[in-house]
Amino acid sequence: MEVLSYAFSEGSSGVGAYSRVLLGGGVGFHLGYAALKETFLRCWGLLAIEPNPLNSGALIRCGCRFPGRSLSVLRLLAIFVGMSIVGCAESQEDSRPNLVLIVVDTLRADHLEIYGYGRETSPALKELAERGIVYEKHVASAGQTVPSTLTLMTSLHPAEHGFRHLGNGHFSKNRPVYPEALTLLPEVFKEAGYATAGFVGNPFLQDKNGFSQGYDRFLYSDAEGARLTNAAIRWVEQRASEEEPFFLYVHYFDVHTPYRPPGRFREMFPRPAEGRVIESNGRVPGVRKRDIRTTVALYDGGIAYVDDQIGRLLEHLDELGVLEETVVAVTSDHGEEFMDHGGFGHGTHVHGELVRAPLVIAGPGVPESGGREENLTHHLDLAPTLLSLLGLGVPDEFRGEPFEGTGTVAFAEDGPFYAVHADGYKLIVNTNTDGAQVYSLGDALDQSPLQEPEIERQLRDRLAWYRALHKLHGEDADAEIPGWTDEERAKLEALGYTR
Ligand SMILES: [Zn+2]
Repeated sequence: MEVLSYAFSEGSSGVGAYSRVLLGGGVGFHLGYAALKETFLRCWGLLAIEPNPLNSGALIRCGCRFPGRSLSVLRLLAIFVGMSIVGCAESQEDSRPNLVLIVVDTLRADHLEIYGYGRETSPALKELAERGIVYEKHVASAGQTVPSTLTLMTSLHPAEHGFRHLGNGHFSKNRPVYPEALTLLPEVFKEAGYATAGFVGNPFLQDKNGFSQGYDRFLYSDAEGARLTNAAIRWVEQRASEEEPFFLYVHYFDVHTPYRPPGRFREMFPRPAEGRVIESNGRVPGVRKRDIRTTVALYDGGIAYVDDQIGRLLEHLDELGVLEETVVAVTSDHGEEFMDHGGFGHGTHVHGELVRAPLVIAGPGVPESGGREENLTHHLDLAPTLLSLLGLGVPDEFRGEPFEGTGTVAFAEDGPFYAVHADGYKLIVNTNTDGAQVYSLGDALDQSPLQEPEIERQLRDRLAWYRALHKLHGEDADAEIPGWTDEERAKLEALGYTR
């Protein structure tokens, strides 16, 4: 693996020619299991139509589920069979799509036009959404980077991957060092024969913390997002003539504090005269409305900057001829608060402005309909969904499942606050006080608490399972939380809840 830090020049290099080299042996080698199945079935007129994991139309894919480690055996089989196919040549290249996963740190969904925001913060995401799907009710696993991003990368709850935020800046580990025992998403792609690269701007996700496992090339940079974009473009250009598909992960940090959007983005949205910029977490005394408006204007400028970077990256992929064979997914690790519930920043609670994350997916296998998915979805299930969309197996270590289109149960946590989203409602419990609030899922920002004692009771049952996970895995601050009794376990299983 090649790990780079601050190794790239600022300037973007020119766009190189992109071509695929079709050689018999290489073609056979790179035919994945799914592509093989498709090739055979197309030859014999038996094309399988299976439910699209994105729940919109049908997707042609392999329905097999197998551990990543068995892929090498299947691929060896693919070499033999792939080289033997005669007379059905149209699929004789590695036709598996690429995946570009973009995480925009600290991006709350409702500040994007695709979620109804009035300011033009995000034309590139709007354009991407027009040829893909927008997920209306997508939930991050936590209101802080490390637990949330690790859920994205491992498809495990924070209690299971072990990196929780306990509140007030304290973590369940002294510092985030991600053990090799965790199976991270890039490792799954690597095992499946993909080229892999990660370009990240969040200091929690540095290679020195073990976050770079599974990447052929990895860059952490605290420079502006343009450096990540340039590095990503250069990497794709450099491997443009390579046969195997790629997994590219870009994690932008420019929406996060300090709110300093560069160049024209700093003045993009008007700010009141004499407004303060609030860059603290939690409650801030003496805040005036003009301070909030000033802070939000700069935050929105940061979104516009990152959106511009995303647009530049996708434009280059298009010029290189790879965009049409690339699945693109854009989400965030958590949002940001601007006095929505009395404070600023994040890592403080689990209300909608912090855990309702944007999600857009577009590319091969995703209907180009500009569709919107109304059902609840969760970070836990994103990696399995993307793997399934690409026809790849989901490792047994991943807890999540591909989006089913019927909604799910989505948990989120931060410090003493736990949230469960299910059955059209959301319950938040403060485990320090046992105080609870119920909201409708249609109330994305948790603005109108409901008096629904029966809903609260039902969702507390669901939350009991999640809180028990902390006891099962716990070496942290949840030691006093009571675990399951046998009776509770049976009750939860009777509800059909097996997560
Ligand atoms: Zn973050």
